Amino acid sequence: MYSEVQTAAIYGIDGVPIRVEADVSDGLPAFQMVGYLGSEVREARERVSTALRNSGFSMPVKRITVNLYPADIKKSGTGFDLPVALAILTAIGVIPPDVFEETVVIGEVNLQGNVCPIPGVLPIVAKAEELGIKRILVPAQNRVEAELLGKIEVIPVESINGAVSYLTGTYEIPPREEQREAAEDHAPDFSEIKGQRVLKRACEIACAGMHNLLMIGPPGAGKSMAAKRLPSILPEMDRKEQMETSKIQSVAGLLSGATTLSRRRPFRSPNHTATLQGMAGGGTIPRPGEMSLAHNGVLFLDELTEFSPQVLEVLRQPMEDHEITIARANGSYRYPAKFMLVAAMNPCQCGYYPDRNRCRCTRRQLDRYLGRISDPVIDRMDLAVGINAVAFGELSGDPKEESSAKIRARVEAAQKIQKERYMTESFRFNSALPPGLIKRYVPLDKEATDYMEEIFFRRNLTARGYHKILKVARTIADLSGKERVDKACLTEAVCYRSVEKRDWEPDERNGD
Ligand SMILES: [Zn+2]
Repeated sequence: MYSEVQTAAIYGIDGVPIRVEADVSDGLPAFQMVGYLGSEVREARERVSTALRNSGFSMPVKRITVNLYPADIKKSGTGFDLPVALAILTAIGVIPPDVFEETVVIGEVNLQGNVCPIPGVLPIVAKAEELGIKRILVPAQNRVEAELLGKIEVIPVESINGAVSYLTGTYEIPPREEQREAAEDHAPDFSEIKGQRVLKRACEIACAGMHNLLMIGPPGAGKSMAAKRLPSILPEMDRKEQMETSKIQSVAGLLSGATTLSRRRPFRSPNHTATLQGMAGGGTIPRPGEMSLAHNGVLFLDELTEFSPQVLEVLRQPMEDHEITIARANGSYRYPAKFMLVAAMNPCQCGYYPDRNRCRCTRRQLDRYLGRISDPVIDRMDLAVGINAVAFGELSGDPKEESSAKIRARVEAAQKIQKERYMTESFRFNSALPPGLIKRYVPLDKEATDYMEEIFFRRNLTARGYHKILKVARTIADLSGKERVDKACLTEAVCYRSVEKRDWEPDERNGD
């Protein structure tokens, strides 16, 4: 007998419909699975036949063929176990063939016949909804995630036997457990950072124009504290962004437990030991990497100089394309990766330069340390801010620090101005202004032009560095509601170019 069960695979971060066909016929007893299968899918054969036996079903002494269709999509992951098991049970007459209409089945099974959770449930449910599917059988532990979208009937099953009894009409879906509404855990707020005016201002400008930000300063100056708080001053995600971000988290297996889609932008802070695959994604069972987990949010690289050059190099393509292409033997797939890059580093090996009371680094050591940052990354930093250790006066001073909500209101206003200004363009933020359009959108008056000319020669700027100052100045003007970029905006923007290496070395050098 022949049977069919609908299931789905994950391709990139999207669900793709897959059909499981099972055929049981006379002939030499055998069980084979075909259809362009990854090794873990081929192993489903052993898992499923043992699980069926342990669930009390005897495998027929016949020839069993299972095909996963269409054949041109490589099937990976363990989510095909349950549909394969149910297709076989239908082919041998345990389950009536007509119960699978408008139903999708996903889930892994273990040897005892229990159904285990799988990653990527949200994109599969989203695709099923899109295709007008009525219900979906999911592992009980994936129930909350499957019910997030709310339009499709979700049947949670704990075992093969549970699925069979549902499909043969003798199973009642247990009421959903009262979810203790995961009280939005305390989001870090900028009001918790005392002092550090310059650092906070740089963060505000960076978020307002979606500029990448480099923070240079001694340990304990609050660099990572500030980075963690960036999502709190960025506008909340809209529905489309929430969906993208949640799908990525789902495929990475990080979405469990949430009862609503999160509006808060992601913040990812991979360790400097991160591998290429950890950053970019991929693998035998493909998973998105850190750059995609930071999609619509912030990717923070602390201790930038400790990252391997290869890992930093891999940032380059997604920063231009806003997505990562993973090439595979059987074609390539894409993960979204649109993030704001924020990095932090010490000014020298010991961390205290230019405080010569504490820093004993030699000139050579200083040069070697700076040489470690790769140019492609530095090139992409619009703002580079040098910060000092917190002064005692700041720690003990005015306890009333501005809240993230207040800063966010200004950021949102500045973003709104950009949205209107660039309505007819293909980009939305000042950071994305192409060189050819800078003159049009950042017109300078005589005073400002003279000032920039002076800066250009005095600082020996590159064209790129010059454009960065203009783009950042545009954002500073937008933050204060100025239509034109004036000298004051430019002067402030110039302060955030401490990345030109010579700029943060004092003129007088002593000691070495
Ligand atoms: Zn030092």
